[in-house]
Formats: sequence, C-alpha cells, structure tokens
Amino acid sequence: MNKMLALNWKMNPTSVAEVEKLMQAMKVALAQIRTGDVVVFPPAMYLDLITRIKESEQIYLELGVQDVAIAEKGAYTSQISANMAAGLGLQYALVGHSETHQYLGVTDASVGQKVLQVLQSGINPMICIGYQEDTSSQEIDYDMLKSQLQQALEPSKDLITNQDICIAYEPVWAIGTGVTPSPETIETVIIFLKRTVQEILGAKTAENVRFLYGGSVNSGNIEEFNALPELDGFLIGGASLKPEELPKLAQVVV
Ligand code: PEP
Repeated sequence: MNKMLALNWKMNPTSVAEVEKLMQAMKVALAQIRTGDVVVFPPAMYLDLITRIKESEQIYLELGVQDVAIAEKGAYTSQISANMAAGLGLQYALVGHSETHQYLGVTDASVGQKVLQVLQSGINPMICIGYQEDTSSQEIDYDMLKSQLQQALEPSKDLITNQDICIAYEPVWAIGTGVTPSPETIETVIIFLKRTVQEILGAKTAENVRFLYGGSVNSGNIEEFNALPELDGFLIGGASLKPEELPKLAQVVV
C-alpha cells in the first residue's frame, strides 16, 4: 500500500502571492516523488489557481476539499458538495476535522452523512477520528474512537469496496500544539482502529483502508513516526505551510 502524505492548509495562505510561493516550494519538495501519494487540502477559493499551477508546473500531487456538505445540493449557504469537488476532478475530501467540529457544528453523526456523500460522488474520503469536547484531556477513550468510526462508516458500508479510504487518527489535544502522543501510543491506537474497521467493513474491504496520524507532525519527529509499521501516512497542518519543512516531510512518500 502506498504511503500517504496529506497536507491540510486550513485557512492559509492569505494571498495569491503566498499560494504561488508555497506551490513553488511544493514543486521543489515533491520533485523526486514517483510512488507515494500526496494530497493537499487548500482553501476552496484557491483550488482553481492551484490546479492551474499544478498542471503547468507538473507538480506531483492530488487535491481535495477541507469539508463537504451533508447533501448533494440546495439551501446550504457557504457549503460545498462532494459532487462539486468530483466535478472539478478533485480526488479527496477531508471529513470530520476537529476544527469543523469546533467551529462549524459538525457532529459524529454528520460525519457519516458526509462520508456517504463523498463515496456517492466517486471521490475518496479522508476521515478524521479523535475529536472530543475536552480538548485538553490526553486520555485515550477507546469507546469514543469506536463510536466515531461506526458513525463515520456505517451509513455507507454497503457502498465501500475498493475506494481509497483514509482514516486519520488526530487526537484533538495534539493539533497545532506541538505536543504529540508517543510513537507507542500511536501504534496502539492505530492497531485498535484497524481492528474496529475490520469489524465494521469486514477484513477484505478493510485491507484497502489506510491509517494516518495527524497532530503536530513536523520535520523533527516525522522520521520516528514513519518507522511505525502500522502507519500508512500523515495528515499535517502547520508544518505543511513552511517551505523549509516540506522536503523532509516529502521523504515519507519518496
Ligand atoms: C491538522 O490540522 O489536521 C493538523 C494535524 O494540524 P497540525 O499538524 O498543525 O497539528
């Protein structure tokens, strides 16, 4: 299974000039990559610009949206449907990121509706698991993780065959804080998530699912995490906006 490097730019960069600069840094960092998967989730406002740069500069990456609506179309002011993303040729949709729980009222149940939309549209979901209301608690709540996975996958489990589904373990207290779980903890949680996905989707379908870690990954710690046998890649926020970080992050997928 290919490794996945997923870069969540959140609500950055803040100008077209900065986007162009970051894309040049991406071009340099990704120049050697031929086999792994790299996906960027930029602000939707920049997707057209980024698609044009990616194509003219032949940059090795896929693009995705940072969230999708729970419905196909209609009165959902400010939102983007999975079908729209698919129609533009995007490959991925991020679903259930903690900041969408925190600021946009996304719930564990609506994550399931969004995943269904994504799969019905023919693109691939990258599902974040690990949001909890108490953003400071570092305790691993396995019941909560299991429930989030069930709610995310159950509504569409009959649709899932060999799509590229990524599950990103993102403990909310590690996002943007510079603090991470230990490699041993990440490995333990990933094994648990894999077992749970096998229970929900069946062992054969679960074989195609990739498991990522996200939360304060940077050029200084990625190598240690990348040595974990169960991990298939990373979802990275803050460090993905720093040109000097990108070459080291890209080593994961060379
Ligand atoms: C994220 O936003 O998904 C994330 C992991 O952010 P950071 O790498 O900044 O912790």
